[in-house]
Amino acid sequence: MTDNVRNLIIIGSGPSGYTSAIYAARANLEPLVFEGSVTAGGALMNTTDVENFPGYPDGIMGPDLMDKLRAQAERFGAELVSDDVTAVDLTGDIKTVTLGDGSTYRARAIVLAMGSGYRKLGIEGEDRLSGHGVSWCATCDGFFFREQNIVVVGGGDSALEEANFLTRFASKVTLVHRRDELRGSKIMQDRTLANDKIDIAWNSEVAELIGDDKLEALTLRDTVTGETRRLDATGLFIAIGHDPRSELLTGQVDLDDEGYVLVQPGSTATNIPGVFAAGDLVDHTYRQAITAAGTGCSAALDAERYLADRD
Ligand code: FAD
Repeated sequence: MTDNVRNLIIIGSGPSGYTSAIYAARANLEPLVFEGSVTAGGALMNTTDVENFPGYPDGIMGPDLMDKLRAQAERFGAELVSDDVTAVDLTGDIKTVTLGDGSTYRARAIVLAMGSGYRKLGIEGEDRLSGHGVSWCATCDGFFFREQNIVVVGGGDSALEEANFLTRFASKVTLVHRRDELRGSKIMQDRTLANDKIDIAWNSEVAELIGDDKLEALTLRDTVTGETRRLDATGLFIAIGHDPRSELLTGQVDLDDEGYVLVQPGSTATNIPGVFAAGDLVDHTYRQAITAAGTGCSAALDAERYLADRD
């Protein structure tokens, strides 16, 4: 165990974790940030152009944006460690964080910023074509698919919302759904069925992605008959859900039914004093880089005030 007790440990290195680190470092809290080993930099490391992060009128590549946020945190003295946190004890006044090699670190306050993972289809080519036709975020990427054929996979409210939103850009949207009825709310179902730019491929799943450097077409498989058919499309939006990375936190902080960390209204405070949470780990609704950065800022300010009150 390291002897010194830190002011603040931040777990996570997406826009929320790094923004929290920038604010905490500039408040002289000397934060220690665990970035994760394989996925340091968060979800934007897996994408290409980011055109909606304010301050970049010409857009910026996702990994470049994350490098800049990282450099900004380092510039003010945040200590960054590319390791995974494998266990936490958040209960007492002094919190303990454990890494895979068994080493432990202690702090008076913690910011949880581990993000959430988009569920994947689990088919070949999905990762390779991410950012080259395959996307998990219509708000982020819809604009790139003007006058193109787009496929949306899913049958819940998110998929229906994405399908309707994408009709602003696409020449046609095909909603691919495994069953013969939609799961989303009645109003979203009605809106989807009434939208003449949306076709629904009932009882269907995506079996194959076709395209080397960018998506050109998909093979759909009928879930009842097993028959396959080709569908030409240059965009595929996967909307089958997200999983917050809160495994570490079970039994430690209050989570909702889907595993998102619960925070007090208008705050980033969890139910445990000194433990704050930000970004997609908390957020069901917006899930954008800028909103994650915003709540990361709030978490650092909340932690700073918590520590000042206890000094
Ligand atoms: P994340 O970015 O998910 O970062 C969390 C990170 O914390 C993890 O990746 C990992 O490095 C680290 N971590 C997790 N667990 C641990 C642990 N136990 N120990 C140590 N470290 C850990 N949003 C936009 O605004 N514009 C876009 O154009 C856009 N495009 C996107 C494209 C793709 C392909 C994807 C997947 C998302 C996109 N988004 C976009 C959404 C945006 O990326 C997320 O909303 C944002 O990254 C969430 O930030 P976060 O800090 O909460 O979490």
